[in-house]
Amino acid sequence: MKKKIVCTLCPIGCELEVEIQEGKVVSVEGSLCERGVKYAKDEIENPTRCISSSIPVRGGKRYETVSVKTSSAIPKDKIFDVMNKIKKIQLKAPIKLGDIIIKNVLNLNVDIAATRNIEKDKSK
Ligand code: SF4
Repeated sequence: MKKKIVCTLCPIGCELEVEIQEGKVVSVEGSLCERGVKYAKDEIENPTRCISSSIPVRGGKRYETVSVKTSSAIPKDKIFDVMNKIKKIQLKAPIKLGDIIIKNVLNLNVDIAATRNIEKDKSK
């Protein structure tokens, strides 16, 4: 089976034609460099993604949510489960950029971390 994918590792965006047999990449055409071959292999055989989301925050100044992201990429087939974990959380201000909100989520060796500061609203 052949599949076309676009390498997203640099702005050139090579269109790769990937030949796949039994879930494994057997050839890659169209890449201008070796990184494209590795990209195709990773994307077909072990696709991963970094994910971002936001979590409600009580008692925050100016903001009612904090943005969060994974500390590194997770397997694509775990995205739904990780998002479900994130959805169940509510936080309380203050929160500091880089705070670990979920340590080692789903035992994937990846943390969910805050990507902004949320000050506590002292009037609340
Ligand atoms: S194959 Fe190489 S040159 Fe082409 S988009 Fe990927 S990184 Fe860029």
